[in-house]
Amino acid sequence: MGKLEGKTALIFGVANDHSIAWGIAQAFHREGAKLAFSYAMPSLEKRVRPLAESLGSDFIELCDVTDDAQLDAVFAKAKSQLGTIDILVHAIAFANREDLMGRFVDTSREGFLLAHDISVYSLVALANRARVLMPNGGSIMTLTYYGSQKVAPKYNVMGVAKAALEATTRYLAWDLGPENIRVNAISAGPIRTLAASGISGFRDYLKQFATIAPLHRNVTIDQVGEVAAFLAGDGSSAITGEVMYVDNGFNIMGLANEDRE
Ligand code: NAP
Repeated sequence: MGKLEGKTALIFGVANDHSIAWGIAQAFHREGAKLAFSYAMPSLEKRVRPLAESLGSDFIELCDVTDDAQLDAVFAKAKSQLGTIDILVHAIAFANREDLMGRFVDTSREGFLLAHDISVYSLVALANRARVLMPNGGSIMTLTYYGSQKVAPKYNVMGVAKAALEATTRYLAWDLGPENIRVNAISAGPIRTLAASGISGFRDYLKQFATIAPLHRNVTIDQVGEVAAFLAGDGSSAITGEVMYVDNGFNIMGLANEDRE
C-alpha cells in the first residue's frame, strides 16, 4: 500500500512536464494519493489538463494567486468536489525578467511587490483557505532556493522573496501547529524549468552546482518529488517549519574544489 493512500493533494504550480510540481504530482500518484490541480493562466490548460488526466485527476482549475476572487473560487470548488484535503503544494514564483538580471539595487517598488505578492503572500493566502479543508490535519509544502541564504548573482529580488517565504513557512508552522497542520519548505538545487529560464545565467548555476556539490550532479524533479511525498506522509509527522535541502549537499560547502579527483 502506498504511503499516501487515502490522502488528497491539491497542487498549485504545474506549468508543464518539466515543472517541479509535476515531479511532486507523479511521486504522490505512485504513493496512492488522489490529486487535484490548479494552474495559473488559461493558456496553460492545454498542457496541464492532459498531464493531470494521465494521473487520473479530474480536478483542474484555473487560479491566478494574485486574485482573491479566483482563490476563493478554487477552494469553493475543492470543498464541493473533494470535501476535505490532506496535502497542499505551493510551487509558485514569479518576478519580472528585468529584475532577474543586472543589479538588485535597481529593483523597482513595483517589481519588488509583484515578486513578493506572487511568490510569498500566495502561500499565506493558500494556507489560510486550505486549513479550513483540513479538519484532520495536513501537510503544506512550498519550494524555495538557497539564494535566500547566500547571494546567488542575478537571483536578486527572488532571493529576498525566498528568504521571506522561508520565514513565512516558520510562522505558518507555528500558527497551524494546533490544527495538526505541518508547513515545510523544500530547498531544491537548480533545475531547468520554465521559471528558471527567466534567470539570466542559469546555465552557469547548473554547471557550478554540479562542480561544487559533494554528489557532483544536478537535482531532478523526481528526487524532489520523493522528498515531497515523505513530507506529505505520516512518516514526517514530527517535522514542521523546516527548510529541507534537496541539493546534493551544495549548501554545506564553503569553498569549491574544482580539481577534486
Ligand atoms: P515552473 O514550472 O515555471 O513553475 C512555476 C509555476 O508558478 C508555474 O506554474 C507558474 O505559472 C506559476 N505561477 C506564476 N505566477 C503565478 C500566478 N500569478 N498564479 C498562479 N501561479 C503562478 O518552474 P519551477 O522551477 O517548477 O518552479 C516551482 C517552484 O520551485 C518555484 O517556487 C521556484 O522558485 C521553485 N524552485 C525552483 C528551482 C529551479 O531551479 N527550477 C529551484 C528551487 C526552487 P506560469 O507558467 O503561468 O507563470
